Amino acid sequence: MKYVKIKNSEEKVAIGKLVCVGRNYAAHAKELGGEVPEFPIIFLKPTSNVIYSGNSVVHPSYSDNLHHEVELVLYIGENIKNGTDEAAERAIHGYTVGLDMTLRDLQFEFKAKGDPWTLAKCFDTAAVITDVIPKEDYKLRGNENISLSVNGKVRQNSSISNMIFSPAQIVKFISSRMTLEKGDLIFTGTPEGVGRVVHGDKIEASLENVGKIQTQIE
Ligand code: MG
Repeated sequence: MKYVKIKNSEEKVAIGKLVCVGRNYAAHAKELGGEVPEFPIIFLKPTSNVIYSGNSVVHPSYSDNLHHEVELVLYIGENIKNGTDEAAERAIHGYTVGLDMTLRDLQFEFKAKGDPWTLAKCFDTAAVITDVIPKEDYKLRGNENISLSVNGKVRQNSSISNMIFSPAQIVKFISSRMTLEKGDLIFTGTPEGVGRVVHGDKIEASLENVGKIQTQIE
């Protein structure tokens, strides 16, 4: 079982499900050759994929194009179904920064065939997170810097103000399709600049005032 670690708290919450949003930054949708979506594009990752900052991402042998995606991650602290705007905002109890590691070669192959791209997104170590900062300690302004560097070179550098769907809009939408429960984590999509990493690469990812992740590719 994997747990959410909450800053300045003894509370240990089991992670429920990881719900992820695709193409939530226009510049990233463009770099992948996709259209800006009318509704959030949703996919899931299993909790067994989770590792924490400091652990290594293990490169699957069956892919030749492992990509990094830095994302704002929302921590859901109470159950919500068919939520209003206010209930959606209230259900977000904290934030962290995450990496949605992706096997881009497999994803393009699956998309071309019209098959589900589950196995491009789900593999052990595919979701990297760090401690959750409670909303009572820090509430997002909405224009925090989000960035990622590989071996000290900046690859992704944007602002969460560039998100197409805001955190509350995302939670509201997902809750209209499936119940969100305490302990669920929502990966809200990545800005442009995604790219390949290989064995030995060191990744640093950060979301201003929220958190930092360090990992390496094994
Ligand atoms: Mg992503």
